[in-house]
Amino acid sequence: MHSLKETGLKERLRIDRGSCCYCGACVGICPADALVLRETELRLDEEKCTLCRFCIVFCPVEALSVAPEQSLPPAREADLLRADVVVVGAGPAGSICARDLARSGAKVLVVDKKQEIGTPKRCAEAVEPDTFELAGIEPHPLWLTNRIRTAVLYAPNGTPVSFGARSLKENGFIIERKIFEKHLAKDAILAGAQYMLKTTAVDVIKDAGRVKGVVVEQMGGRKKIMAEIVIAADGVDSMIAKRAGLKTVNRLKDFMSCFQYEMAGVRHADEQSIYLYYGNAVAPGGYVWLFPKGNTLANVGVGIKPLKKEGKTPKAYLDEFIAGHPRIFENASAVEFNGGGVPVHRTAETLVADGLMVIGDAAQLVNPITGGGIRLAMISGRLAADVAARALRKGDVGRRSLSDYQRRWDAGHGKLMDKMLKLQRFTDRLADDELNRLAEILTGPVLEDLAEGRFLGFLKLLMKKAPALAPFAVKYLRS
Ligand SMILES: Cc1cc2nc3c(=O)[nH]c(=O)nc-3n(C[C@H](O)[C@H](O)[C@H](O)COP(=O)(O)OP(=O)(O)OC[C@H]3O[C@@H](n4cnc5c(N)ncnc54)[C@H](O)[C@@H]3O)c2cc1C
Ligand code: SF4
Ligand code: SF4
Repeated sequence: MHSLKETGLKERLRIDRGSCCYCGACVGICPADALVLRETELRLDEEKCTLCRFCIVFCPVEALSVAPEQSLPPAREADLLRADVVVVGAGPAGSICARDLARSGAKVLVVDKKQEIGTPKRCAEAVEPDTFELAGIEPHPLWLTNRIRTAVLYAPNGTPVSFGARSLKENGFIIERKIFEKHLAKDAILAGAQYMLKTTAVDVIKDAGRVKGVVVEQMGGRKKIMAEIVIAADGVDSMIAKRAGLKTVNRLKDFMSCFQYEMAGVRHADEQSIYLYYGNAVAPGGYVWLFPKGNTLANVGVGIKPLKKEGKTPKAYLDEFIAGHPRIFENASAVEFNGGGVPVHRTAETLVADGLMVIGDAAQLVNPITGGGIRLAMISGRLAADVAARALRKGDVGRRSLSDYQRRWDAGHGKLMDKMLKLQRFTDRLADDELNRLAEILTGPVLEDLAEGRFLGFLKLLMKKAPALAPFAVKYLRS
């Protein structure tokens, strides 16, 4: 057989990347060794391809076709779907919101660009003690991997400060997020929501300034989904709210850039403790974390402020940290790695528009001190669902009606977020020697108060034991 180049035929093998689900079947069947699969990217070597079409016959999703050179795929009429609510994003925020809305009787459609919910994970998988109760979920052994009793914080000079849960009822948890997210989707589906995977929302549909639906691409086709309310639950890579005209873009200085390994063979002191390491040398503007999942597995990662780094990537910082702790990592190896961005700034200014609500990371609802967002994503999802269900019943999905969501958020969890932001702005400006001094004087109870937004005890402690830092702290932490 001659290759395409040799025959001079004006046809080419076309790969529809929106449909390809990276199964690799075509690679195995190709007699000319013309296809290579690099994780999620299928590449064709046109020098080798003979256009035998074996791969086309074999592909389970019709992602391959032969097309004349430079031809464009034929334009298709967009199909029309209808729902009361379309939720863009099946992360923790989207699925909890979809579950509650479906339980209220609404017709809910959830779209997600992933072909597998929960994968890849961009997460260290730690959640706060009250998370499941607030989200209305029963913990399940399939995804609850470990219970955490203590957090150990290391100052730049290695001084540890431990703080534990106030009572045994208040364990933190480590979850298996890939299973957890599927579990949340299952609950929403059982409540009546419908899911469309590998479906990317590419635009919002507007009519006279009101959001009326979204345009999605799914497996090579385009669809319009008309809905009374669109919920933007599309995470840190959110574009729905932006397209609807809301200002949700974060500045570079307000982002944490993260890199993480899940490792096996990690030897840490205690499986029921999480470990956090601070200092400019290990993680400028952020921290290194070690979160045990049980059975020597652990998420080991770093988050840094990109504008503070000195020419090194987060991966380089993490690799250096691991190399510098042979006692913990000498027999460990990565079984997975991932990266991601975490918004560590205040909430987006506006969470609603006519026919639109923004929840979870898409609205930057992340604890600025810890970078944790799962709990807040689910709380915001529930709150938005409650307000959306009432708005649907009233037949008024305008901005004023939906802004009850923003009011309730600001009056509740938003208040603690504002306090955490003040604390973050204070700690962000501390030099390593000041962090070392804090580690000498801080106690578990004071740290617990700080985490809950109570600053008085901390300020008193500073006045007594680190007076040089007190005015600085008052400036940032005063209400
Ligand atoms: C490295 C790292 C570690 C972290 N560790 C923790 C931790 O230990 N604990 C914690 O609480 N938080 C952690 N977080 C933060 C946490 O992951 C997020 O706050 C949380 O995922 C927010 O949930 P969400 O549902 O808002 O968004 P996501 O979980 O990001 O879900 C958004 C969904 O929308 C989909 N989507 C996006 N755009 C589109 C589109 N156009 N069309 C269709 N679908 C779309 C995505 O595929 C995704 O499934 C971490 C983040 C990172 C990056
Ligand atoms: S058309 Fe034939 S030669 Fe070309 S990539 Fe497919 S299987 Fe391989
Ligand atoms: S067989 Fe189809 S779906 Fe599988 S990798 Fe090839 S093009 Fe993609």
